[in-house]
Amino acid sequence: MLEINNLHKSFGELAVIKGVDLKIDKGDVVVILGPSGSGKTTLLRCINFLEKADKGQAIFGDIGLNLKTASKKQIHEIRQKVAFVFQNYNLFHNKTALENVTEGLVYGKRISKQEAIEIGETALEKVGLSDKSKAYPSELSGGQQQRVGIARAVALNPDIILFDEPTSALDPELVGEVLSVMKDIAREGTTMLVVSHEMSFARDVANRVIFMDGGVVVEEGSPKDIFVSPKEERTKQFLKRVL
Ligand code: ADP
Repeated sequence: MLEINNLHKSFGELAVIKGVDLKIDKGDVVVILGPSGSGKTTLLRCINFLEKADKGQAIFGDIGLNLKTASKKQIHEIRQKVAFVFQNYNLFHNKTALENVTEGLVYGKRISKQEAIEIGETALEKVGLSDKSKAYPSELSGGQQQRVGIARAVALNPDIILFDEPTSALDPELVGEVLSVMKDIAREGTTMLVVSHEMSFARDVANRVIFMDGGVVVEEGSPKDIFVSPKEERTKQFLKRVL
């Protein structure tokens, strides 16, 4: 479904991604773990062209492209297949929950407004926010705002959803409701690539865990491989700190 080969990205002198390969199959729930600053968010952003890679190839389903030189048309095409859930929700503050969800359907996917509303309402129902469709972000808790962010991604019916630390901006008591929605959509077979510090989610929901450090993939495997019998010293040290 998604393959990334030899991805590199620097910010000025700082090399942040130093040759990452990634392969994700349909239905995979892959969690990327790693210390702060190891390049996890940048990796995700390069996959969706929110950052331009310095080098790297990608294969999205049957489309192969260069992550550095992809055309606007190709980027638009990929964004129809790859949805993104942001750490800080990235909602339009002057739009209601429903309008936030339908915006991308009407303007990105060119779906009629009426159909977009139906899809949007179904997506909000899925994240438990049917009763908040007319609420503005300022009237919602952080957890509810992030659930709108997830509904927006789900409504696009993408091939894969990328989650960039979706719970890290939330107060601790609001983390559970967001993880629970993520768990639900994972169980429905949604392909997900998740950067998260939530070890319980990685352990219980992921079928594959990738440990990154210093801009490279240090180790990957099943949650059991990584949490119970990690091979690499850097993985062991990281887990000792966070568990
Ligand atoms: P992680 O998600 O693992 O915490 P990031 O990908 O956010 O790591 O960041 C990796 C490194 O890249 C950090 O040192 C960060 O400061 C730097 N970085 C990220 N984005 C930018 C940017 N837009 N400009 C300059 N440096 C950046």
